[in-house]
Amino acid sequence: MSPVVAEQPHEERVKAVLDGFRSATGRDPDGVWEAAGRVNLIGEHTDYNDGFVMPFALTRSALVAASRRQDDRVQVTSLDLGERTSTGLDEFSPFDSPGAPARVWSDYLVGCLWALQEAGHQIGGLDLVMASSVPVGAGLSSSAAIECATVAAACDLFELDISPIDRAKIARHAENAYVGAPTGLLDQAASTLCTEGHALFMDCRSLETRQVPLDLPAAGLEILVLDTRTPHSHVDGEYAARRAACDRASELLGVEALRDVTDLEGALAAVGAGVSGQEGEELIRRVRHVVTEDERVLQVVSLAEQGRFRDLAPLLDASHASMRDDFEITVPTVDLAVETARQAGALGARMTGGGFGGCVIALCEAGEGERIGASVAEAFAEASFGEPTWFTVVPAAGARRVR
Ligand code: ADP
Ligand code: MG
Repeated sequence: MSPVVAEQPHEERVKAVLDGFRSATGRDPDGVWEAAGRVNLIGEHTDYNDGFVMPFALTRSALVAASRRQDDRVQVTSLDLGERTSTGLDEFSPFDSPGAPARVWSDYLVGCLWALQEAGHQIGGLDLVMASSVPVGAGLSSSAAIECATVAAACDLFELDISPIDRAKIARHAENAYVGAPTGLLDQAASTLCTEGHALFMDCRSLETRQVPLDLPAAGLEILVLDTRTPHSHVDGEYAARRAACDRASELLGVEALRDVTDLEGALAAVGAGVSGQEGEELIRRVRHVVTEDERVLQVVSLAEQGRFRDLAPLLDASHASMRDDFEITVPTVDLAVETARQAGALGARMTGGGFGGCVIALCEAGEGERIGASVAEAFAEASFGEPTWFTVVPAAGARRVR
């Protein structure tokens, strides 16, 4: 039993996308750009409460080979899907435009060019050929990876002077307004701004960021990422319900967002006084998750800055318990994965991402992650859950030119 998701060496991946570009266009690309998928180390459901998040970039990434074209067309090829689309620069159709066709995968890339144009930048026709090693739909941001690599390519090829955070905003605008998927800035910021050996601390109110050292290999550590492959059922409705609960609590407490709560016990008492019965108890738990999760992010930043990476483990465990018991966004597969990983020797573990399925991360001694993943797979088989997939990661670089 070993659905470990192996990854080709980077050089081979670059060569494959170069070869793919040549066979798609008959010439060499002007360059190759890369942008990573990401995993959130800690800080879940804190983003829309103006709080703190802490993603890091994966070595799993999208590679985009690109060249300018003489004409005004954008031709996009996915080597993974074996599909190609072609759009004129005057044929852009955001998802809500009259007569817009159904969304397809290439809209994530085409949308970035649209978003650049919308922001007033001069662009021209492009050939884009991409291949990605970010698992799709696992909550590891395969969409941001292809967007951010595309934005990086366009910025270099059209000599656009756009700061990293503004590049991330352009990619998010593409996903929100062109593809029609409402997402926050976390994914694109991580994919663009992360640096090797660091996590990215981001204040979701000010959008200030800070690189926090997370050189896990130097500390003899690695992180296991295990995709439970649980379908995210009811996730939209549950997500909306959590957001509504947070808004209601903020209003009750007279704060702009739950990030502004400074006295947790006082806030919980006030919520209890304002809403009675079971409803009040539930709201208390929701508030407790968000406020303590923000605190945990700040503690993780402080410990990591002191190089105390092993001490992050209890905070990962506490984050999971808070998501399970207070915010109630975990599901049985996710809880079993976390428990089994801990029993099998992980130092700490938690669900990562919005919840109701998706991935679990576990902080492990270097070289232990794959074995721990196999233990979780055994437990899944015993519980008659589906087969998970897993791989190990260390914090990698964000968007950059590689050729
Ligand atoms: P994720 O959590 O992986 O970001 P999303 O639903 O946001 O999930 O984005 C996944 C979508 O991104 C896919 O359905 C597809 O349209 C597009 N995508 C991602 N990777 C690729 C790829 N390698 N080739 C083509 N499309 C891709
Ligand atoms: Mg996505």
